[in-house]
Amino acid sequence: APVCTLSRIDEPLPVLGGDVHVPLVTGGETPYAALDYAASAPALQRVWDDVAAYAPYYGSVHRGAGHLSQLSTELFEQSRQTVAEFLGCREGDQVVFTRSTTDSLNLLAAALPPGTRVFVFETEHHAALLPWQARGSDVTYLDAPRSPEQAVATLESALHAAPSGPKLVCVTGASNVTGEVWPVRELARAAHRHGARLVLDAAQLAPHRPVSLSELEADWVAFSGHKLYAPFGAGVLAGRADWLRAAEPYLAGGGASRRVSRTADGTVEAEWHTTAARHEAGSPNVIGAYAVASACRALTEAGFDRLVAREEELLARLRKGLAELPEVRVLSLFGEEADQVGVVSFVVEGWNSSHFAAALSAEYGIGVRDGLFCAHPLLRALLGQQGDAPGECGAPDGASGELPGSSAGVTPTLNAVRVSFGAGTPDEH
Ligand code: PMP
Repeated sequence: APVCTLSRIDEPLPVLGGDVHVPLVTGGETPYAALDYAASAPALQRVWDDVAAYAPYYGSVHRGAGHLSQLSTELFEQSRQTVAEFLGCREGDQVVFTRSTTDSLNLLAAALPPGTRVFVFETEHHAALLPWQARGSDVTYLDAPRSPEQAVATLESALHAAPSGPKLVCVTGASNVTGEVWPVRELARAAHRHGARLVLDAAQLAPHRPVSLSELEADWVAFSGHKLYAPFGAGVLAGRADWLRAAEPYLAGGGASRRVSRTADGTVEAEWHTTAARHEAGSPNVIGAYAVASACRALTEAGFDRLVAREEELLARLRKGLAELPEVRVLSLFGEEADQVGVVSFVVEGWNSSHFAAALSAEYGIGVRDGLFCAHPLLRALLGQQGDAPGECGAPDGASGELPGSSAGVTPTLNAVRVSFGAGTPDEH
């Protein structure tokens, strides 16, 4: 199985001198199946090896003539090139290294020309749903579509009715809840027909399918390294340079500024870079970028055809097994025929999903996600319930250790269980 296994999970893990112990599972030799790739996928051994080989030599990027600094600058820029190739970037596109998809989309939200109207389906992950309004844009929220065709039609009519001016559509490539693949190219074409641009949230799509800006005709794409078999800390925003170049730097600081001088009135004036460095102020995360590039290379070499075929086998097995259980309802917007990556969410009749997930971990050594997956409006659309849920997305609201979904005054069934995996490079897991 393409899962990482911990062979003895009843003992403290060998980190922090063995002080860390989560005594939930008492299964002795039970292998542990981590089936929460949609949240974070285990880094490939090859990525760890690449990082370990480079680690003794790292220095600060773009910071001088020292040999290690130059080596790091070279690796950082090579990593950018590798990512550009992985994403099918067009001539003139920029690849900006960020911290994550959330960071990338916030960067773009901060870089929109004044007056840009944003169009976003309510079904998006909060990282793609929230930055636009939070950063001052007017947003048109679109109702959950029930088929890919309806998604395109809904977008078309919203764009048709929109006033003139700059417009941006933000859409997911594959849902982190249903795993369903969205019709990105058709949506991009619809956007372009109405003079809008499109940013693709590929946090879930990129680990499972080839993502090419030129083939999908998208204007920008965002993804996170930690879902793409690299460790945490680095993400990417790639795409058209013009809006990025015209915007104020996302962060003000060293690295983003080409020249800074005192002015006659006693203040300072900065001249900013027009390359990706404009939005990468501070000492760049060269290890993170290098790890992302390593993962991109590993996936490309493994070949998406092979990865998709393996993942589809696993997905078919999971779906068949779930279909045999009458208590289980698999969540879907587009129906059974939908194209889907290895992400499946479901509810089990008579069970609170959080308790169900806890039981899977404690009794069977299967680690899955439960809750609302940082996509609250989507869960409401799928489960057809009103109500509010506790802060399952991020840190729990209280420090009580209470299971999400079990606190008084909330609808306990407004949550689901999610099983997610990827073929990655199967030989390495
Ligand atoms: N979009 C989607 C579809 C996601 O699944 C996630 C992570 N669950 C994000 C955006 C945000 O990614 P990150 O937490 O790495 O910023």
